Amino acid sequence: MLAGPPPTYNTGSIPPTMHQPPSQMHGNQYQPPILPPNFQPNQQQFPPQTSMMNNGMSQPSVQHPYLNQGPSPSTQPDISTPPIMNSQFQGTQPPLHNHPPSNMNGAPSYKQNQYPNGPPSVPHPYPNSGLPSSNNFGPPTTGTNPHLQGSQPPPHNPLPSNMNGAPSYTPSPYPNGPPSSFPSGVHPPPYYPNMPGPPSMPGSQPNGISSYPGQPPSMPGSQPNGISSYPGQPPSSGPGQQSFPQSRIDADMVPNVIQVVEQCQEKIQEPFITNAPGLLPPIVGTNFICQDQGSCNPRFMRSTTYAMPNAADMVKQSNIPIALSISPLAKLRQDELEPPMSNFGEIGPVRCHRCKAYMCSFMQFIDGGKRFICCFCEAATDVPQEYFNHLDHSGRRMDWYQRPELCLGSYEIVATKQYCKDEKWPEPPAFIFMIDVSYNSVRSGLVNYICHILKTDLLDYLPKDKNGETSTVRIGFATFDKQIQFYNIKTSLGQPQMMVVSDLEEIFVPLLEGFLCSPQDSRGVINSLLDQIPQTFANSQETETILAPVIQAGIQALKGANCSGKIYVFSTTMPIAMAPGKLSNREDKKALGTEKEKTLLSPVNNIYTKLGEECAQNGCAVDLFVFPNNYYDLATIGEVCRISGGEIYKFNYFSIENDGERLLDELKRNFQRTTAFDALMRVRTSTGIGPIDFLGNFYMTNATEMIFGTIDSDKSVSVELKHEDKLPADGNTYTQVALLYTSISGQRRLRIITLALTVTSSYTTLYPACDLDTIMNYITKVAMRSVLMSTPKSIRDSIITQAANMLACYRKHCAQATTAGQLILPETLKLLPVYVASLLKSDALTGTLTLTTDDRSWLIHRLMSMNIKGTSAYIYPRIYPLHTLEENSIPSSMIRCLYERFADTGAYVIENGLVMYIWLGSQLDPTFVQYVFGLPSASHIQPEKCRAVELDNPLSKNVRTLLNMIRDERNSYMKLFVIQQRDPLESFFKNYLVEDKGFTGGASYVDFLYHLHREIRNILQ
Ligand SMILES: [Zn+2]
Repeated sequence: MLAGPPPTYNTGSIPPTMHQPPSQMHGNQYQPPILPPNFQPNQQQFPPQTSMMNNGMSQPSVQHPYLNQGPSPSTQPDISTPPIMNSQFQGTQPPLHNHPPSNMNGAPSYKQNQYPNGPPSVPHPYPNSGLPSSNNFGPPTTGTNPHLQGSQPPPHNPLPSNMNGAPSYTPSPYPNGPPSSFPSGVHPPPYYPNMPGPPSMPGSQPNGISSYPGQPPSMPGSQPNGISSYPGQPPSSGPGQQSFPQSRIDADMVPNVIQVVEQCQEKIQEPFITNAPGLLPPIVGTNFICQDQGSCNPRFMRSTTYAMPNAADMVKQSNIPIALSISPLAKLRQDELEPPMSNFGEIGPVRCHRCKAYMCSFMQFIDGGKRFICCFCEAATDVPQEYFNHLDHSGRRMDWYQRPELCLGSYEIVATKQYCKDEKWPEPPAFIFMIDVSYNSVRSGLVNYICHILKTDLLDYLPKDKNGETSTVRIGFATFDKQIQFYNIKTSLGQPQMMVVSDLEEIFVPLLEGFLCSPQDSRGVINSLLDQIPQTFANSQETETILAPVIQAGIQALKGANCSGKIYVFSTTMPIAMAPGKLSNREDKKALGTEKEKTLLSPVNNIYTKLGEECAQNGCAVDLFVFPNNYYDLATIGEVCRISGGEIYKFNYFSIENDGERLLDELKRNFQRTTAFDALMRVRTSTGIGPIDFLGNFYMTNATEMIFGTIDSDKSVSVELKHEDKLPADGNTYTQVALLYTSISGQRRLRIITLALTVTSSYTTLYPACDLDTIMNYITKVAMRSVLMSTPKSIRDSIITQAANMLACYRKHCAQATTAGQLILPETLKLLPVYVASLLKSDALTGTLTLTTDDRSWLIHRLMSMNIKGTSAYIYPRIYPLHTLEENSIPSSMIRCLYERFADTGAYVIENGLVMYIWLGSQLDPTFVQYVFGLPSASHIQPEKCRAVELDNPLSKNVRTLLNMIRDERNSYMKLFVIQQRDPLESFFKNYLVEDKGFTGGASYVDFLYHLHREIRNILQ
């Protein structure tokens, strides 16, 4: 039984991956965060619960619903309905003739003869990149789109319904009429018993959007054949009953992401309550609420498995990585509990005297409350007198529910002076803006635009603490080309003063005071500075720039002010001027995809690495906004961001028209997200297991502590754990993250996050406790790091080997009873093959022919710090139909990443967290373009310039709402392209349809399953 009323939220009306906008979630009513039962903090912001129960004697025993669906941890998994039990997999070797083995591992075909005349001339519209100019897109886009004009014959789908070229399976779908219920997530085509063909073409409809049917029936890929044979809703049939006449597996017969997510979503009826060790949280794509009752909210930390193998041998056999993904500042839902602040007063945080772990809900008090036993190392520590409290008859402290550290999995502590540098309270952080004013920067309009948005918009978005009234951030400005210009913005001056530094070898900041000022105090001077900078440099002819001295100057300025902070660098060209950090062009696109690419993707020297280290040690980070038209050498320069914990934003061929809105939006998001400065993170674990490897963007000077100039709510790190000893089977194991940091208001704090896992010696318990999203996040990061050390082929091979071994071990230990030759996937890992197939051909890992070296470096940088939600969308992009949005304010079910699922009368948005495409079918009702983009016809669409404009009709409103929801979910504006079916750019868009065969090679999901199955059988033989 739960204390208090159940939370009032509704998860059914919105796509599971999407968080609901506040207005839809709660109406206009304030909903207090969900608190643990009887939690009565004395802080004002946490009102006591109105109804109390059970006197705190016993914990409510709510099992998470997600656990109930699979086998219970202690029982043999139910292998009678595995996701795949198909006769195709039995006995005989699967046919592989369609795809030569060289392609089976997802390797891109970098065969020279693929493009005998060189790669296609279409530039890669990568994420943050822009396109050189719209006239490079191939055919002109004005007035000549043959698919939308004239009396073309009804289009046939450009691809056969079976992408593999195999015979299509077209049974009579509904001999007795349509089934009464369709599998969730699959939208049935309308059933037209008396209609031999599709309804009239949208183009012939009278004006008005009402002509958008729910789901067009004319789409070959959405024919009911797939739906009727869908095995995921199992049931009726055992393996023997599922026989299909076709010679190849149909895409509808394999586990699919959309269905898994939607089924998990349906099972989520109540909050996920963390009141016992080892509870597997809902999968990442679902929309759920967490109630912290001892272990942390999974948004802060997830584990690859919630049942820790008790011995190293089990890890070795299973090949399941043992790792944590940690996002210590993750954004929570509005109705979840932010870690409350604990104050231990003068004595400071209470910690185990031996292993230094912080107080948490799993420490056990003994001796009437005089000592506590550490859950990590089992040492007993005396309770400081100031902290003493009596125990109740169950051995629990009387103030259990009043103290966050005793009953919650995450809480914060106001640090004492011992936790500050030199035992001095820190100053609030400062932001420094360093603006490139060279010829390129001025000419593109960038200088003017940045100054304009800072003045009119951004300075009002400077961050403040949750309860703070105004921002305490001080700001400073410098500009640079071959020299650095500093500006004194002291309010008493009335007008800003410029000071030029041209000695770049021994950089110094020529201002003792007046460089960093409060924007509230100096707003007048700042405004006139931002007016004057564009004028001063309007006629700049300087094409060469410097960079390392600029960053060095930023560090010096922050050091001089004795504060942490951020250095925002806006840079347009690679630094080639004579100065430290000068670089030269080493772009060699032919090397990408070959054994030589690691040299290209590694820094050419350590100058920027050293700068990053200096940043991290001084509590600051560099956020780099690059606007290159040519090679920039991000592999080298990006090091300063990687080591300091900063971020790279990339705008190729910047123009205000195409990118201005995105730049402004990204800067606002950057300012507004929760950020910790001058941070130090440490992971502690129970005796017998310990952190061994750390992945992410940070700096380390020893084997245990991660140092971040800054870390924010969008960032995560992965920590691999290694067995040092055998763990007691059937016990628990604990992990605790401690993040020491300076808040935006200058307060030194600790955030403590604790997670309890169970321990197991049985594979049949291990597999059902796996969290695939975390496993994929970890595998992705390992692969990204390997790109700099290994070859693309060996990275792919090792991922395949790992996946095959994971599944083979399951087959061997958990599913012996099944027929040899069957492919059996554990419930929790049934999407492993599709995710691995997708990762293997992802552009970060393989590149594509038109992806630049800088794009690759940027991708690697982003993925290394990406949280699980981010990698999940990157690996399997989300697709929503837009043409159904006229009547429904929220999209119907997501679409699988298969081209055949796109109706040519439809419009869809696809996003992977880094880029967004809107795809318009060739037979889309022309009014869609009018109602959404405000253009007279599709022939006016320019892929990069097109926007969902604000128009007064429901479709426009709903499309814009959806796009904004996606942006908020990813916390990124994302570059948007509007692509029309059969447009030359469509091939780039198809690259994100990861279940299909890759654009540059790489097996389709179904083909990869064959390959993986063969690998598994080889292992088992
Ligand atoms: Zn301890």
